[in-house]
Amino acid sequence: MIRIAVQKSGRLYEDSVSLLKECGIDLRNVKDRLKTVSENFPIEVLFLRDDDIPEYVEDGVADIGIVGQNVLGEKNRNVSMVEQLGFGKCRLSIAVPKSMSYTSIKDIEGKRIATSYPKLVKSYLDQHAVNASIHEISGSVEIAPGIGLSDAVADLVSSGGTLFVNGLREVETILESQAVLISNLKLDSTKLSILEKLLFRIRAVKKAQKSKYVLLNAPNEKLDSIIKLLPGMRSPTVLPLAESGWSSVHCVLSESEFWNKIEELKMAGAEGILIVPIEKMIL
Ligand code: ATP
Ligand code: ZN
Repeated sequence: MIRIAVQKSGRLYEDSVSLLKECGIDLRNVKDRLKTVSENFPIEVLFLRDDDIPEYVEDGVADIGIVGQNVLGEKNRNVSMVEQLGFGKCRLSIAVPKSMSYTSIKDIEGKRIATSYPKLVKSYLDQHAVNASIHEISGSVEIAPGIGLSDAVADLVSSGGTLFVNGLREVETILESQAVLISNLKLDSTKLSILEKLLFRIRAVKKAQKSKYVLLNAPNEKLDSIIKLLPGMRSPTVLPLAESGWSSVHCVLSESEFWNKIEELKMAGAEGILIVPIEKMIL
């Protein structure tokens, strides 16, 4: 049995629980529970505040955990970072009031910065040889300049909307963050092998999220030029259609090249293109 710590409620909760479910792990009654055991995979899930997860994983109260890189960096605990999970994306940024003139980080010299991430901010300022006084506050950092508590903030940003409505302008990125899987440094061999199994599934889910299954029809004389456009796990599958002179071509396309490829395929003579989501992908 392996124990995983995930956020109890908040921005990482939904995605963490759905990732485990997409890995085929049965989790019932997760709402409002402190912990739950899966019935079909040797895993117990502990629901905690995200700030506590690195410490619990270091101490071995949990064996592994899901937490943002921002929290991991701030807490600086002795754990290993096993895998980036692709959700919970945000950045820790410095923002200043729109009215303040700003050309470089030197303009922060002597100023008061409000943040929930004092260690990350301090080390960023030290790197740039800037002195500022850091005020640690635990929530609603973005309102600090407006109420005269600070001159600037260092806060998590995703779209920038919250900064904007508070009259702030993002000027420096301290850290790019996403949710990661972390692990205790001394897992025994049983736990390590469960972690391997879980990682295998997580990678299959992540890979599938980035890919699409594409089916198209093509006249046989255009097959060669169409096949040249396609990548594929091995090569595309080509099957004859009932109508003679036509074939059906199946392949996997990654999200990044998807739209360009579809354009090219149409120009090359592909018709009846179907795009299907992939649930899992094992390579
Ligand atoms: P807890 O009660 O567990 O301490 P919290 O209030 O500290 O929760 P949330 O606001 O739920 O935390 O954010 C959890 C994590 O989600 C953050 O640490 C960060 O990694 C990630 N995240 C992604 N986008 C954002 C964003 N726009 N603002 C804040 N956090 C974000
Ligand atoms: Zn928190």
